[in-house]
Amino acid sequence: MRCPAVYPPDPTLGITDPQMLPPPKLLRRSRNYEHRPCPECGKSCPRDRVRTRTLHDLGDAVGGRPRDIQLTYSQHHCTRCRHYFPADMSDLAAPKALYTHRVVALAVRLVVEDGLPYQTASWHLWRDHRVFVPYATIQNWVEARGKKGGRSNPCGLPRLGLFWNSRQSSPSP
Ligand SMILES: [Zn+2]
Repeated sequence: MRCPAVYPPDPTLGITDPQMLPPPKLLRRSRNYEHRPCPECGKSCPRDRVRTRTLHDLGDAVGGRPRDIQLTYSQHHCTRCRHYFPADMSDLAAPKALYTHRVVALAVRLVVEDGLPYQTASWHLWRDHRVFVPYATIQNWVEARGKKGGRSNPCGLPRLGLFWNSRQSSPSP
C-alpha cells in the first residue's frame, strides 16, 4: 500500500518537446448553419462554405491527456454588404484564437490573481489541466488584458488578500 504522503512524479516531467506529450482527445463541435444573419445589415445569408478550426481546451486531468475541440463552422456571404463572415462561435473562443476562452481566463488568473511567474503558470496549466501553453503566449494574453482594462490587481496579491487588506486599512470613501 502506498503511503499517503508519497506521490509519483508527473509522468511528463522533463519532456521539453511538445511533440512528445500525450496526444489530445478530440471533441467535435459544430457551428454549421444553412443561413445566418449578416452582422452588418441583418440579412439572412446562405452558407458559402464549411471550414474547420482546432481549439486547445482544458484537458482531461483524470486521463492525463490534452483535449482539442475540432470545430466545424459555416462561412456565409452577404450579397448586400459584399462580405464574408463566419457563424458566431464567440462563446468558445476569440476570432483566430488557438485556445478556448476557458484556457485564456485560467492562464490570466494564475498570473494576475495568484501572482505566478509565466513559466510557473505554464507548467501549472500542463500539470493540473493538461493544456500546453508556451509561457510567452500567456505573457501576451496578460499584456493584452493590461492594455484593454488595466491591471485590476496592481500589487500582485491574490484578490481575496487585496480585498482583505483594503478592508483592514482604509474605510470606503
Ligand atoms: Zn449584410
